[in-house]
Amino acid sequence: MAGRARKIILLSHCLLNVNSKVEGKNPYSSIQKELVKLLMDKDYAIIQLPCPEITHFGVRRWAHVRDQFDFPIFRRHCRKIFKPVLHQIEDYLHNGYDISGIIWVEGSPCCGLNLVTKGENWKGVQNEESYAKLLKETEKIKGKGIYVQEVEKLLEKHNVTLDFYALNEKQPELLLKELEAKL
Ligand code: SF4
Repeated sequence: MAGRARKIILLSHCLLNVNSKVEGKNPYSSIQKELVKLLMDKDYAIIQLPCPEITHFGVRRWAHVRDQFDFPIFRRHCRKIFKPVLHQIEDYLHNGYDISGIIWVEGSPCCGLNLVTKGENWKGVQNEESYAKLLKETEKIKGKGIYVQEVEKLLEKHNVTLDFYALNEKQPELLLKELEAKL
Protein backbone atom coordinates (compact mmCIF):
# COMPACT_ATOMS: atom_id res chain seq x y z
CA MET A 1 0.00 0.00 0.00
CA ALA A 2 1.48 3.40 -1.01
CA GLY A 3 2.19 5.91 1.76
CA ARG A 4 0.53 9.27 1.76
CA ALA A 5 2.42 12.26 0.31
CA ARG A 6 1.48 14.48 3.30
CA LYS A 7 1.18 17.49 0.98
CA ILE A 8 -1.86 19.77 1.13
CA ILE A 9 -2.97 22.89 -0.71
CA LEU A 10 -6.03 25.04 -0.06
CA LEU A 11 -8.26 26.45 -2.80
CA SER A 12 -10.89 29.16 -2.86
CA HIS A 13 -14.23 27.39 -2.77
CA CYS A 14 -15.39 28.24 -6.30
CA LEU A 15 -12.27 26.83 -7.93
CA LEU A 16 -13.75 23.43 -7.13
CA ASN A 17 -17.42 24.41 -7.08
CA VAL A 18 -18.13 27.08 -9.67
CA ASN A 19 -21.82 27.06 -8.66
CA SER A 20 -20.91 29.25 -5.70
CA LYS A 21 -20.09 32.16 -8.01
CA VAL A 22 -22.65 34.80 -8.93
CA GLU A 23 -25.04 33.33 -11.55
CA GLY A 24 -23.64 33.39 -15.07
CA LYS A 25 -21.07 31.66 -17.21
CA ASN A 26 -18.44 29.28 -15.92
CA PRO A 27 -15.27 31.39 -15.96
CA TYR A 28 -13.15 28.35 -15.14
CA SER A 29 -14.37 25.97 -17.85
CA SER A 30 -10.98 25.85 -19.53
CA ILE A 31 -8.80 25.81 -16.44
CA GLN A 32 -10.49 23.82 -13.69
CA LYS A 33 -9.55 20.32 -14.87
CA GLU A 34 -5.99 21.37 -15.70
CA LEU A 35 -5.53 22.94 -12.27
CA VAL A 36 -6.85 19.94 -10.36
CA LYS A 37 -4.88 17.54 -12.57
CA LEU A 38 -1.66 19.48 -11.99
CA LEU A 39 -2.19 19.40 -8.21
CA MET A 40 -3.11 15.73 -8.17
CA ASP A 41 -0.19 14.81 -10.47
CA LYS A 42 2.04 16.47 -7.89
CA ASP A 43 0.41 14.40 -5.14
CA TYR A 44 -1.36 17.29 -3.43
CA ALA A 45 -4.44 16.74 -1.34
CA ILE A 46 -6.89 19.64 -1.67
CA ILE A 47 -8.82 21.45 1.07
CA GLN A 48 -11.67 23.61 -0.19
CA LEU A 49 -12.05 26.86 1.73
CA PRO A 50 -15.60 27.90 2.61
CA CYS A 51 -16.98 30.65 0.34
CA PRO A 52 -17.76 33.79 2.37
CA GLU A 53 -20.28 35.10 -0.16
CA ILE A 54 -22.52 32.10 -0.59
CA THR A 55 -22.51 31.38 3.15
CA HIS A 56 -23.64 34.95 3.86
CA PHE A 57 -25.73 36.03 0.87
CA GLY A 58 -26.74 32.76 -0.82
CA VAL A 59 -26.99 31.65 -4.45
CA ARG A 60 -29.30 34.45 -5.57
CA ARG A 61 -27.01 37.33 -4.70
CA TRP A 62 -26.10 40.10 -7.13
CA ALA A 63 -22.53 40.86 -8.09
CA HIS A 64 -20.83 42.95 -5.43
CA VAL A 65 -17.80 45.22 -5.26
CA ARG A 66 -15.32 45.25 -2.38
CA ASP A 67 -16.74 48.45 -0.90
CA GLN A 68 -20.00 46.63 -0.13
CA PHE A 69 -18.30 43.84 1.82
CA ASP A 70 -16.19 46.17 3.90
CA PHE A 71 -18.30 46.20 7.05
CA PRO A 72 -17.70 44.66 10.50
CA ILE A 73 -20.31 41.89 10.45
CA PHE A 74 -19.09 40.57 7.13
CA ARG A 75 -15.47 40.67 8.28
CA ARG A 76 -16.51 38.75 11.39
CA HIS A 77 -18.29 36.24 9.14
CA CYS A 78 -15.06 35.73 7.14
CA ARG A 79 -13.13 35.04 10.35
CA LYS A 80 -15.81 32.73 11.68
CA ILE A 81 -15.90 30.46 8.61
CA PHE A 82 -12.12 30.35 8.30
CA LYS A 83 -11.35 29.49 11.93
CA PRO A 84 -12.23 25.75 11.71
CA VAL A 85 -9.92 25.50 8.66
CA LEU A 86 -7.18 27.37 10.50
CA HIS A 87 -7.33 24.88 13.35
CA GLN A 88 -7.03 21.99 10.87
CA ILE A 89 -4.02 23.70 9.27
CA GLU A 90 -2.36 24.08 12.67
CA ASP A 91 -2.98 20.42 13.47
CA TYR A 92 -1.57 19.23 10.13
CA LEU A 93 1.52 21.43 10.49
CA HIS A 94 2.04 20.25 14.05
CA ASN A 95 2.03 16.67 12.76
CA GLY A 96 4.57 17.15 9.99
CA TYR A 97 2.32 17.75 6.99
CA ASP A 98 3.34 20.23 4.30
CA ILE A 99 0.72 22.90 3.65
CA SER A 100 1.86 24.62 0.49
CA GLY A 101 -0.45 27.58 0.44
CA ILE A 102 -3.77 28.98 -0.67
CA ILE A 103 -4.94 29.60 -4.24
CA TRP A 104 -7.20 32.66 -4.38
CA VAL A 105 -9.24 34.23 -7.20
CA GLU A 106 -7.95 37.46 -8.69
CA GLY A 107 -10.46 40.30 -9.05
CA SER A 108 -12.91 38.98 -6.47
CA PRO A 109 -14.04 41.47 -3.82
CA CYS A 110 -13.48 38.73 -1.23
CA CYS A 111 -10.80 36.41 -2.64
CA GLY A 112 -8.76 38.82 -4.79
CA LEU A 113 -5.06 38.69 -3.92
CA ASN A 114 -3.61 41.54 -6.00
CA LEU A 115 -6.70 42.83 -7.77
CA VAL A 116 -10.19 43.62 -6.50
CA THR A 117 -13.31 45.16 -7.97
CA LYS A 118 -14.13 48.60 -6.66
CA GLY A 119 -17.18 50.82 -7.12
CA GLU A 120 -17.81 53.56 -4.57
CA ASN A 121 -21.32 54.32 -5.85
CA TRP A 122 -22.39 50.66 -6.08
CA LYS A 123 -25.32 50.61 -3.66
CA GLY A 124 -29.05 51.05 -3.39
CA VAL A 125 -31.88 49.90 -5.63
CA GLN A 126 -30.95 49.67 -9.28
CA ASN A 127 -32.85 49.71 -12.53
CA GLU A 128 -31.41 48.63 -15.85
CA GLU A 129 -30.21 52.12 -16.68
CA SER A 130 -28.51 52.86 -13.38
CA TYR A 131 -27.05 49.35 -13.26
CA ALA A 132 -25.43 49.87 -16.68
CA LYS A 133 -24.12 53.24 -15.51
CA LEU A 134 -22.68 51.73 -12.34
CA LEU A 135 -21.04 48.92 -14.29
CA LYS A 136 -19.04 51.55 -16.15
CA GLU A 137 -17.95 53.07 -12.85
CA THR A 138 -16.51 49.88 -11.38
CA GLU A 139 -12.83 49.33 -11.77
CA LYS A 140 -10.22 46.77 -10.92
CA ILE A 141 -7.72 48.23 -8.49
CA LYS A 142 -4.65 46.82 -6.78
CA GLY A 143 -5.56 45.44 -3.39
CA LYS A 144 -6.72 42.46 -1.38
CA GLY A 145 -10.24 41.13 -0.97
CA ILE A 146 -11.96 41.25 2.42
CA TYR A 147 -11.67 37.49 3.01
CA VAL A 148 -7.97 37.48 2.09
CA GLN A 149 -7.38 40.35 4.53
CA GLU A 150 -9.13 38.55 7.39
CA VAL A 151 -7.46 35.20 6.65
CA GLU A 152 -4.07 36.90 6.53
CA LYS A 153 -4.63 38.52 9.93
CA LEU A 154 -5.71 35.22 11.50
CA LEU A 155 -2.75 33.33 10.04
CA GLU A 156 -0.37 35.97 11.36
CA LYS A 157 -1.99 35.92 14.79
CA HIS A 158 -1.48 32.14 14.92
CA ASN A 159 2.08 32.30 13.55
CA VAL A 160 1.21 30.33 10.43
CA THR A 161 3.01 31.27 7.21
CA LEU A 162 1.53 30.12 3.91
CA ASP A 163 2.31 31.01 0.29
CA PHE A 164 -0.50 32.74 -1.54
CA TYR A 165 -1.29 32.21 -5.23
CA ALA A 166 -4.17 33.49 -7.33
CA LEU A 167 -5.96 32.49 -10.49
CA ASN A 168 -6.51 35.32 -12.94
CA GLU A 169 -9.49 34.22 -15.03
CA LYS A 170 -8.16 36.17 -18.02
CA GLN A 171 -4.66 34.65 -17.86
CA PRO A 172 -5.08 31.24 -16.20
CA GLU A 173 -1.89 29.89 -17.79
CA LEU A 174 0.18 32.17 -15.51
CA LEU A 175 -0.97 30.32 -12.40
CA LEU A 176 -0.31 26.92 -13.95
CA LYS A 177 3.23 27.99 -14.86
CA GLU A 178 3.84 29.37 -11.36
CA LEU A 179 2.55 26.20 -9.69
CA GLU A 180 4.51 24.01 -12.06
CA ALA A 181 7.70 25.86 -11.07
CA LYS A 182 7.10 26.21 -7.33
CA LEU A 183 5.28 23.11 -6.13
S1 SF4 B 1 -16.13 34.70 -2.56
FE1 SF4 B 1 -14.29 33.64 -3.19
S2 SF4 B 1 -14.88 31.48 -3.11
FE2 SF4 B 1 -16.76 32.64 -3.10
S3 SF4 B 1 -17.36 32.77 -5.24
FE3 SF4 B 1 -16.18 34.62 -4.77
S4 SF4 B 1 -14.08 34.11 -5.38
FE4 SF4 B 1 -15.20 32.20 -5.18
